[in-house]
Amino acid sequence: MGRIILILVLVFIAYVFVKSFLRRDQRPAADADQAEHMVACRHCQVNVPTSEALLAGGHYYCSEEHRRLGAG
Ligand SMILES: [Zn+2]
Repeated sequence: MGRIILILVLVFIAYVFVKSFLRRDQRPAADADQAEHMVACRHCQVNVPTSEALLAGGHYYCSEEHRRLGAG
């Protein structure tokens, strides 16, 4: 009888462990990206994350081409 209780306890622990693991897994990894500061391209006003934006002369651009073209 004691063995059945032990198995049930182990199953319960495994269940809680798997559940917490899955919950951690489901958290969207995109959260950090969405929180990233967005800047508007000076040429086309498209919003781009600062890490992807090109900075030139104190202004942000979405691409190398728009950086060359400058303010539109
Ligand atoms: Zn642009």
